[in-house]
Amino acid sequence: MGKEELMKRLEERIRNCRKCPLWELRTNPVPGAGSYDAEVMFVGEAPGYWEDQKGLPFVGRAGKVLDELLAGIGLRREEVYITNIVKCRPPNNRDPTEEEIRACSPYLDMQIDIIRPRLIVPLGRHSMRYILGKFGFRVEPISRVHGKTFEARTLFGKVTIIPTYHPAAALYKPPVMEELKKDFARIGALMKRTR
Ligand code: URA
Ligand code: SF4
Repeated sequence: MGKEELMKRLEERIRNCRKCPLWELRTNPVPGAGSYDAEVMFVGEAPGYWEDQKGLPFVGRAGKVLDELLAGIGLRREEVYITNIVKCRPPNNRDPTEEEIRACSPYLDMQIDIIRPRLIVPLGRHSMRYILGKFGFRVEPISRVHGKTFEARTLFGKVTIIPTYHPAAALYKPPVMEELKKDFARIGALMKRTR
């Protein structure tokens, strides 16, 4: 089965999923969007109001920040893959619980296995904690690990992880935008070098 069919099947499973209580409150689940052949995968936290309305990731205010950061390194949304660790919106945009992350993260694991990205960029501390933990790295505060490069081995080869801040953080803490820009510059440089 090709990537396209595997991803379509997985998206269908997510659309029908009732593995955690968040299914009851969702308007739309948000499986993810972008290229199934993406070299880089961005992983946010969970859908917010607009994502839940539209069924698409990062389409609200944080999405505008993400678009700006992507444009800054010459990337379009269509050539990357964007998703979240939790696929349904937590009420009032609260943080996802450990149980919700445990229930939902197998979908992210499968997305990584199907897309086989060369680079994974966790956005924010929840995503960073999950991704670094998954690949066996020690989890440290985001202020310490953001912009750093972690090399992991997977069944399909090497994958590089560069955690950064959540784009929403730049909305209420302007200095975070400068850090995000620097981290994205590294992402851009790495992608050019290995292309
Ligand atoms: N914040 C996230 O973590 N993910 C989205 O899709 C939107 C906002
Ligand atoms: Fe299923 Fe994830 Fe939605 Fe929970 S958040 S219902 S595990 S898709």
